[in-house]
Amino acid sequence: MVMEGLGDSLRSTLKKIANAGNVDQALIKEVSRDIQRALIRADMNVRMVLELSKTIERRSLEEKPLPGMTNREHVIRIVHDELVRLLGEPRTIPLRKQVIMMVGLYGQGKTTTTGKLALHFKKKGMRVGVIAADVHRPAAHDQLEQLANKVQVMFYGQKGAKDAAKIVTDGLAELRKKCDVVIVDTAGRDKLEQSLIDEMKRIFEAAKPDEKFLVMDAAVGQQAESQARAFHEAVQVTGVIITKMDGTAKGGGALSAVAVTKAPVVFIGTGEHVDELEPLDPKRFIGRLLGMGDLEALLAKAQEAMGGQDAEKMARKMLTGRFTLNDMMAQLDMMGKMGPLSKVAQMLPGGLGANLQGKNMEGTQEKLKHFRVILDSMTKEEREEPSIIKSPRITRIARGSGRTSNEVRELLKYYETTKGMMKGLGSNRKMQAQLMRQLKFKGRGGEAA
Ligand code: GDP
Ligand code: MG
Repeated sequence: MVMEGLGDSLRSTLKKIANAGNVDQALIKEVSRDIQRALIRADMNVRMVLELSKTIERRSLEEKPLPGMTNREHVIRIVHDELVRLLGEPRTIPLRKQVIMMVGLYGQGKTTTTGKLALHFKKKGMRVGVIAADVHRPAAHDQLEQLANKVQVMFYGQKGAKDAAKIVTDGLAELRKKCDVVIVDTAGRDKLEQSLIDEMKRIFEAAKPDEKFLVMDAAVGQQAESQARAFHEAVQVTGVIITKMDGTAKGGGALSAVAVTKAPVVFIGTGEHVDELEPLDPKRFIGRLLGMGDLEALLAKAQEAMGGQDAEKMARKMLTGRFTLNDMMAQLDMMGKMGPLSKVAQMLPGGLGANLQGKNMEGTQEKLKHFRVILDSMTKEEREEPSIIKSPRITRIARGSGRTSNEVRELLKYYETTKGMMKGLGSNRKMQAQLMRQLKFKGRGGEAA
C-alpha cells in the first residue's frame, strides 16, 4: 500500500529526529528531504511537496521552540502542523436547503455514504430525499432504495432507465418541494473513463448541485491525484469524503485529493453501517498517518505553552522594556495566571525578594485589589508617565478610588521598587533566563497566591 509506505517513511523520519541528540540545520535539512521523498513517492503533487518541505525547514529553523518543548518536539510539531494544514480548514456542511451530488469511482462508497449523509441531515431535523442516478449497475437502484427505507428518507428512482440526467431532472422536480436536502447518488466505473466524466457533467448540469462530494476509499493510492483532478474539472468538488477509515489503510491518498481540489475532507466513513460517518478530526487523522501515539500529549503540551505565551510576553516585556504603571496593572491582572508575585519575588537575587514581600508590600491579595482600584482611577497618561503624579493628582486619585493618599503613595513606591528590580534583572541575562523558565509553566489559570 503506497500510503502505508508513506506513513512508514514519515515515521522513520520522525524517529530519526527523536533519536538525534541535537536538532541542527543539517538534521532539519535531512528530515525535510526525507519527507519530500516520501510524499513524492506517494504520488503527491511535486510542487506542493516542495512547498511543504520548505515550509517545514524554514519554520524549524526560524521559530523558537515553544516554552518547555525540546528541539525535537519542536520539529515534530511543525511537521504535524503543516500536514494538518494540507488537510485544509475543517469545514462543516451548513444545514440549509441544498442539492448534493456524490461522485467517485466504483466501489468507493458513494451509495453507502449517500445513505449515511441522508441520516446525518435527518438527525439534524431536515427533510431529506435521495435520487438514484446510477444507471450502470442494475442493483444500484435497489441498494439505495433499501438504504432510504432504512433511514426513512424520501427516495426517487426510475428502475431500468438509462438516462441519468433525466432521472435527476425528474427526481428534483418531485423532491425539491418536499425536501430540504436532496442527495444525488451517481454511477462510478472501475477506472477513470471519458464516458464517466461526460455523464458526471450532464448530471451536474441537470442537478446544479450546491455541494459536490468526491468519495474516496482510504486505500486509494497513487491514482488519488488523477481521479481527484478529473472529477474536479467535471463538477468542481467542494468536499472530499474518505471511506473505510475503519480498515487498515491510513487514508493518506486523501492528502492529494484535498490538495488538487482545494476542497477539505468533510467527513470520514468508519464502517458499513449508516451511522458510521464522522466529521474529520485533522489532528487524529494526521496522528494516524504518522503513527504517533504520543502526538496527543505532545500537542497538549504545545497548547499549554501557547496559552502561557501571554504571560511570557508580559514577563519578557517587564524584564527588558520600559516598565510603566500600565505594565504593572497588566502584571497585577496576570497574577492569577503566572503565579503570585511573592513567588516571583522568591526568585529574586539576594534579600531583594524578602525585602519586597516584607516591607513595601504585604503580599496580600487584599492590597493587590486596592492597588488595582487605584490604578483604575488614574488617567492613561498618568499610568504611562507615573512621574507626573504629584500631590494634587494623588489626592484626586485617592478620592476617585475611595482609598487613602497614603495608599496611593504606597503604590507608587511599590512601582518604583518593581521598576528598579526589573531593570536590574533586565541586565542580568542569566537571571532573566532562569526567571522565564520558572514562570513558563504557570500557564493559564495557574495557582493564585
Ligand atoms: P459505490 O460503488 O461507490 O456506491 O460504493 P458502495 O457504497 O456500494 O460501497 C462499496 C462497499 O464498501 C460496500 O460493501 C460498503 O459496505 C463498503 N463501505 C462503504 N463505506 C464503508 C466504510 O466506511 N467502512 C467499511 N468498512 N465499508 C464501507
Ligand atoms: Mg453505488
